[in-house]
Amino acid sequence: MPVHFSTIPEEIKPEMEELAPSDEFWMGEALKEAQLAFDQQEVPIGAVLVFDNQIVARSGNRTLRDQDPTAHAEIVTLREAARVLGNHRLVGTKLYVTLEPCAMCAGALIQARVASLVYGASDPKAGAVHSHFEICTTAFLNHRVEVLSGVRDLECAAILQQFFRARRKQPLL
Ligand SMILES: [Zn+2]
Repeated sequence: MPVHFSTIPEEIKPEMEELAPSDEFWMGEALKEAQLAFDQQEVPIGAVLVFDNQIVARSGNRTLRDQDPTAHAEIVTLREAARVLGNHRLVGTKLYVTLEPCAMCAGALIQARVASLVYGASDPKAGAVHSHFEICTTAFLNHRVEVLSGVRDLECAAILQQFFRARRKQPLL
């Protein structure tokens, strides 16, 4: 018989919560995907989708490699997660991404019914979660995504800054 969390004695609960990986841990996994994208000369943004304390799917940005303008880390991750879980609705899942999602990706999170979004750095230019639009939390859509921002934001921003600094140094072709 499966053990339900509610049946676990109160004194053990805090210990069990400690054992569950933290948001910082999962963001570290998203950062690894950002680094892999960086190594492929892609804009270094990474994402992982977590369900039941396990990574279901993970990806970095792939727009250049796939020659696909929609191949943002979040979209590739959601597609893979839907395939793995055998469901286009990703109910109860949590998406971690290093940068605030754009309008396309925030819209996809709504379509997929993702429960929570955790992102690292803000994107004042194209972010569509807090910076503009507030797509994930707007009242008139039929689904809202719980949002936590700023997790390991300095590291998430640093890898992007490093990428664009290096790119500016390259001679123009
Ligand atoms: Zn996007």
